[in-house]
Amino acid sequence: MMHIQSRCLLILATFLFSSMPSHAQATLNVVASLPEYGALAKQVGGSEVSVVTLAHGTEDMHFVNPKPSYIRVLNKANVLIENGADMESGWLPPLIAASRNPKLVPSLNSPTRILAADFVEMLRIPMGRIDRSMGDIHPLGHPHFHLNPANAVAIAQGLQERFCVLRPHACSTFKENVEQFKGQIENKMRQWQSTMKPLQGAHVVEYHQTFAYLADSFGFSLMDELEPKPGIPPSAGHIRDLVPRMQSMNARLILIEPFHERKTPTFVARQTGAHVVVLPGTIGGVPGTDDYISLIDTIVSRLVEAANRAEANAE
Ligand SMILES: [Zn+2]
Repeated sequence: MMHIQSRCLLILATFLFSSMPSHAQATLNVVASLPEYGALAKQVGGSEVSVVTLAHGTEDMHFVNPKPSYIRVLNKANVLIENGADMESGWLPPLIAASRNPKLVPSLNSPTRILAADFVEMLRIPMGRIDRSMGDIHPLGHPHFHLNPANAVAIAQGLQERFCVLRPHACSTFKENVEQFKGQIENKMRQWQSTMKPLQGAHVVEYHQTFAYLADSFGFSLMDELEPKPGIPPSAGHIRDLVPRMQSMNARLILIEPFHERKTPTFVARQTGAHVVVLPGTIGGVPGTDDYISLIDTIVSRLVEAANRAEANAE
């Protein structure tokens, strides 16, 4: 029979062990700079991760309000996922510096400081010298790459590889989650492409360079932006030049995001007969966009509805 003291110690040890989260059981504290990465982290990590997203879907991702509370959130992060390619350069770096979290020091292929830009091919990389004094906030190429569904899959696969380094015991779960997401995207892609047929070859104007990767996936053409350069507000001269070009190319849609001012797009729409379409650039931008698939569902249905309306009006 076991000695009474040993028995008590065993009970105490069992109690302590079961009441403390073991390393293997602890969830990963993932912080995502932008809503799309919060959603993808949940998709890949499932119950192995707890996710906090900094930016709200209704904000301009280049100009997020840097709340002081984000410093504490970043200090406790096991992992930070950001877009990179200068998307967040106007607000995130000072918060990371103030968080003093050694896990967030950048290093090549770091599993704890993850740049989504590392997993995708960038569009519109500028040639030659880039002059930031001109105000261009896309100096490294077009950073809104998550709107191509194939890129969302590539980013999910990248997250899976990095999460596997940190939580090897859950690696097979992460892989299954990615495969499931990939299958869902492939199924939806067929549906989205068929729904988007009315936009094939259409010339479309956007407020900011937000939707190039979407246009690339679905075969419509973005002829210009209302902004003369990314991040520079529309000027009278640029709009004067744009209106006749829109008319000659029969551009019937102007894509804006929920936070953009409406005066300029409304004016251009009146001048050209084009329709203004409010599209969410990210998850949470408008109601009903709670994950990646519902984001693209919403974009597709709003675009097609507007294209049909514009077509009917033009007849
Ligand atoms: Zn941008």
